[in-house]
Amino acid sequence: MTKSKGMSSAVVAVGDELLIGKTLDGNGSWLSKKLTSLGAPVMGRWVTGDDPVAIKQSVIAALEGSDLVIVTGGLGPTTDDLTRPAVADLFDLKLIVNQSLVDKLRSRFSALGYEKLPGRNLVQAEVPEGAIIIPNCEGTAPGLIIEDGQKSVVLMPGVPHEMKSMFDSSVTDYINERFQLRLNPILQRTFNTSGIPESLLAEKIGEDITHFPSDVSVAFLPRLQGVSVRITTPLSGGQGLSSLDFCENIIKKALAPYCYSVGKKNIVDSLADCLLIDKKSFAVGESCTGGLISKRITDVPGSSSYYKGGIIAYDVATKSGVLGIEKSVIEEKGVVSEEIAALMAEKTKEIMKADFGIGVTGIAGPDGGTEDNPIGTVYYAVAGPSQTMCFRKNFQGNREAIRERATQAALFSLFQILTDRQV
Ligand code: AMP
Ligand code: MG
Repeated sequence: MTKSKGMSSAVVAVGDELLIGKTLDGNGSWLSKKLTSLGAPVMGRWVTGDDPVAIKQSVIAALEGSDLVIVTGGLGPTTDDLTRPAVADLFDLKLIVNQSLVDKLRSRFSALGYEKLPGRNLVQAEVPEGAIIIPNCEGTAPGLIIEDGQKSVVLMPGVPHEMKSMFDSSVTDYINERFQLRLNPILQRTFNTSGIPESLLAEKIGEDITHFPSDVSVAFLPRLQGVSVRITTPLSGGQGLSSLDFCENIIKKALAPYCYSVGKKNIVDSLADCLLIDKKSFAVGESCTGGLISKRITDVPGSSSYYKGGIIAYDVATKSGVLGIEKSVIEEKGVVSEEIAALMAEKTKEIMKADFGIGVTGIAGPDGGTEDNPIGTVYYAVAGPSQTMCFRKNFQGNREAIRERATQAALFSLFQILTDRQV
């Protein structure tokens, strides 16, 4: 079989709540990722209100440059759910009540304890003539596929978990079958780094990029948790893989002290791997991060194997009363200082009987900055079996960004120590 020209897709998200900014178009970005990895790159995304004219215009525009349009939202039973009639009208298709859908709706409601099927739900059994019905295992609105020549329009519910499960269980197979010869999955690899700004990172691999094969493109993706470097090639199979392997060797060497994972793993996952291999445990004494570090660690199931726990010593009295840091030391050194971060790490480690302790104290703002310690100043320390290492950083951004960055930096410093990297 030979592959013909690649295909492209588009996404239309329907809902007034999206336009007024109450709800983020999470469906759109989720679908973008899925379609890209299937090999149906997204050429555009539209967000439109619950208005039949606007829905039709968006679908027409989306169809213009793409073979597959995925529409989410507006398939519910209420009067503001207008996607089904709008798209049926666009293709000049009658809406016909599908008896097997009516029966399914009836049994669903009766299983929920309702005597009668609410009249409004009957519209969800209306199907544009000739459309393919996609079952919805999680809700009442079935998905619908309308095929128009070589193109397809897929309608799915807006409720994210219904949409996602429908896409994974049925729509993926449909796309693979209908567009199999035109799908072009791109190969990608992502290197996640911490502790180095985007510009310095670009400098570190700047020279090396000139040696990359011409089919590989490089993107720098800064986030609060650090900068990721993504390499992409449109080549598939062995040729694409060997291009990526070649670049991976170069990138890993250049970014060695900063790279904590390749792929989807975040710092907490990478840290967990190290701690489990080394059979080590740790504990956290947090002030300005207020429990964020603990939250991120315990987001990972099974973290009790290596995480002893955390103490949020926010108030000075808690730092002395619970952690046992002498008041006179706090007064002398200042509560936001290297010494207090170190003592928080050491005392927490001791109290929790852990192998390592992390301590964090800083000024997240918007008030409280001083000349010596302006807003964003964070001291964090890692106490190990034989020594304590302290760090001072000035993080940029608002309160949320400063706390997020401090969390990442503290976790990354423990990772660096455990993996014997330059700190
Ligand atoms: P609908 O299927 O239009 O009745 O949407 C039901 C609910 O799903 C809405 O109230 C939103 O909370 C959510 N929703 C709809 N569209 C999206 C979207 N594009 N991204 C995230 N959530 C959505
Ligand atoms: Mg809606």
